[in-house]
Amino acid sequence: MHLSLLLHNSGHRDSLLILMMMKILLLFAFVDYTLQDRTTTKYGTTTKTTITTPPAGTTKPPGGRSVRLPLNLYPVLYELELQPFIYGSNPVDFYFKGKVKIEMECRRSTNEIVLHSNKLNIATSSVRIETMTPEQNPIIPTIEFDTVNQFLILKTNTQFVSGSSYSLYIEFSGPLLPDLAGFYQSSYQRGNDTIYIATTQMQPTDARKTFPCFDEPAVKAQFKLTLVRKQPMVSLSNTPVINNITRANGWIADHYEVTPKMSTYLLAFIICDFKYTVNITKNNVEYRAWARPEAVDQTPYSLDVGVKILTYFEEYFDIPFPLPKSDMIAVPDFAAGAMENWGLIIYRETAMLYDPMESAETNKQKVAVVVSHELAHQWFGNLVTPSWWDDLWLNEGFASFVEYMGVDHVHPDWLMFEQFVVDDLQDVFNLDGLVTSHPLYVPVSNPSQINEIFDKISYEKGSTIIRMMRFFLGEETFKKGLQRYLKELAYGSAFHDDLWKALSEQSKADGKPERVQNVKQIMDTWTLQMNFPTVFVERTLDNLRLSQSRYLLDKNATDPGTYTSPFGYKWEIPFTYTSQSISNFNQSDSDINWMGKDGAVVELKNALPGESMDSWYIGNVMQYGYYRVNYPESNWQKLIQQLKTDITKIHPINRAQIINDALNLAKSGDLKMNIALQTVEYLSTEEHFLPYSAASEELLYVDGMIERTALFGAFSKFMKATFTIPFNKLGMDNSGSRHLETYVRRIVVALACKYGNEECIGNARKLYSELMELTDGTNPIDVNLRSAVYCTAIRYGGVEEWDFAFRKYKTSNVATEKDVLLLSLSCSRDVWVLSRLLKYALMPEEIRKQDAVSIIIYISRNPIGRCLVWDFVRGNWDVIFKQYGGSFLFSYLITGITAKFNTEFDLQSVHNFKESVPSLGSGARAFQQAVENINLNIKWMAKNSQIIQEWLKTLP
Ligand SMILES: [Zn+2]
Repeated sequence: MHLSLLLHNSGHRDSLLILMMMKILLLFAFVDYTLQDRTTTKYGTTTKTTITTPPAGTTKPPGGRSVRLPLNLYPVLYELELQPFIYGSNPVDFYFKGKVKIEMECRRSTNEIVLHSNKLNIATSSVRIETMTPEQNPIIPTIEFDTVNQFLILKTNTQFVSGSSYSLYIEFSGPLLPDLAGFYQSSYQRGNDTIYIATTQMQPTDARKTFPCFDEPAVKAQFKLTLVRKQPMVSLSNTPVINNITRANGWIADHYEVTPKMSTYLLAFIICDFKYTVNITKNNVEYRAWARPEAVDQTPYSLDVGVKILTYFEEYFDIPFPLPKSDMIAVPDFAAGAMENWGLIIYRETAMLYDPMESAETNKQKVAVVVSHELAHQWFGNLVTPSWWDDLWLNEGFASFVEYMGVDHVHPDWLMFEQFVVDDLQDVFNLDGLVTSHPLYVPVSNPSQINEIFDKISYEKGSTIIRMMRFFLGEETFKKGLQRYLKELAYGSAFHDDLWKALSEQSKADGKPERVQNVKQIMDTWTLQMNFPTVFVERTLDNLRLSQSRYLLDKNATDPGTYTSPFGYKWEIPFTYTSQSISNFNQSDSDINWMGKDGAVVELKNALPGESMDSWYIGNVMQYGYYRVNYPESNWQKLIQQLKTDITKIHPINRAQIINDALNLAKSGDLKMNIALQTVEYLSTEEHFLPYSAASEELLYVDGMIERTALFGAFSKFMKATFTIPFNKLGMDNSGSRHLETYVRRIVVALACKYGNEECIGNARKLYSELMELTDGTNPIDVNLRSAVYCTAIRYGGVEEWDFAFRKYKTSNVATEKDVLLLSLSCSRDVWVLSRLLKYALMPEEIRKQDAVSIIIYISRNPIGRCLVWDFVRGNWDVIFKQYGGSFLFSYLITGITAKFNTEFDLQSVHNFKESVPSLGSGARAFQQAVENINLNIKWMAKNSQIIQEWLKTLP
């Protein structure tokens, strides 16, 4: 899936763009109901006895079973019928009824069947097992629940015989809650009416909350579905409808074509009153884009890129899309950005709907990226699925890489692969520089651990090492190797070694150098150990000398010992370089100098023939490799000098690299901070988006550290001066600008306003007051500058400006505009206003549940909101934990709100709090990471405050 919170690390970069990663989640286990009560009252219409799964943790697992299914009986076909009851006026009463027949083959003789079921009411008298010989009486099993493992265990006196087939029948029901997990209810407003719909999110472990099933990714089967609905609703699922049969009392049963063999987590169903736009792809796939009737006019862009990218992937992978249709649908409540269900991809509205008049270029790019990501999953994940969640990165890393290929195909001028370096590679360096990081391939068992790894490591590090692999294999070998992998394992599941094998075979077939014929040997060093290396490059005369070491943000941090490295933290590194006179930024796999995992120093003889000793050299050209590069101080000085005299001599990617590497090597103590800071002194002459983006990330870190110290005044003056020069050049008129020019202007305007440029602030306030005067619904502010303008106007305004934005937020029909407004609300400098906003975050009637975590983190980034949020989260811990404690969002909440903590007092406060709560849920690793991060910040302050003060004095 694609995880998409509202915020990006630095907030300014795109108030909405954000974390392109994925998935969804199980949040809101909104469990104010108890299933037991509801069973008798709400589902009492049935005369059958029902058994409700007790809440997890209340019973011991019988016999301490493994969390994995025994699979002695293996599902082949599910015939599933579901009927949601969403037509009353009281959504608390909503529920669904279902029945399933599971055809199974017995692979090992046994007398029990173990499958998954969670929070379902099983009609016990309905449960029976039939053999394939109809004259035999059905087998009636006894029923047990293992609530820890979410197992339904059926025991019999009869032996199931290996090689024989059986059919299992179960009827069941379950509540239909607004909990964003499994089969759930969502809603939207039309005037004063609330319209209810039923939709799904199964990944990773919530299919079992919808129907009893064998809910593991490798356990693939076919599904024959029936959805029962009333007019005027329609139903949608993975495959096309075959027919509609009218039933009593106005019900209509939609029967669906049987699916290909697939994983349970990829099933999807929706019952809604949405409308669609449609197109047919070049290869005859019917492609529809669905939305609320009021928003269906915002679907043409995603429909257009979807149609193009689907065909592009079919051709690139040389495998046709296996379904006759592909639907995309934007639902009003969705925890992640989108979910790749086969043939029915579900999005949150901001990830799919685009209104050219009301949405920014960043929104457009986000839509294209998420659409591309989900379509990539149709092959990586849906066709070939990881055998278990420990290889989740195979799914998410590939989708996060291939998404760039798809968007690059449609919009080559967006320079997607250049953006990759800042958005994925540099972005994940920070998390993966912690000793509390984790390897890409990571053991997980229970749902909470599975949810925890839907993180930047799986997505961004995954995609980054795949990009590196494409570089060292070369494009053709990479492409044919992937085709080989997908074709060999289609409709099956894969372990990462299967991928290495296919790529190695292709590498051999293509006659690549021996080293890259063994892809496993290289890639194991990047997937089986956490962190990444720094390569130190030293010049002597014409030679370069390379050595590698493990990069850690804090070398003295205590390793929790969760993971050990099989390679002693040494890597197989594809090293490249160039220099002032060679000036070659267009390199290929034939330019690679390998460094081995033995860690030996590598001498490159005659690497810089005839190069002047005054010239600079640079390692990791275009940052294809997942490593940092460090140099002796003299080479850093030459690079800085080059930036100050002529930026065009160094490619924008490597300019961004220099800034990012230097400031982070200073953070880790490998480079003097006063040298590192000089890499941003040239910034006012920069023109390209990438170095601006990299620099603003780093400068906002400095800002976050010193925002409450006496240093801030001088720093703010430097920032104002730095961004006033490009601001004067670019101004606030964005009309006619191209995509990346718009991106630069967004950053420059946001930072110029933030650091007090009077013209910027004046313009923003004036535009906003014009907007407040208008009553005809028009908006005079360029969509691309709205986040900066709204934020500035609210920051310098009062409660009237704030209330205006909040009213607009509540009434806007455009989800992307709603996001901009919502995030701008956190810019207020009034404590009581921010407190009120925090309160709204936990009131779903004010702020949608999908956005609550984002807004809380956003408020914490406001210097005035920081302590407020920490008090709020502690004070409302029980509520927040109940809603988010099992979700991937919870990790983001923990690391997000503590990101700027940098005193012993902060640290103690986090420690004390951690000790005081009974469980950390899916935030366990995030707490460790937060503590490591705070320690790092404390050290950074101690080491650098004085240096920064002196550096600021040296500036004009
Ligand atoms: Zn994904």
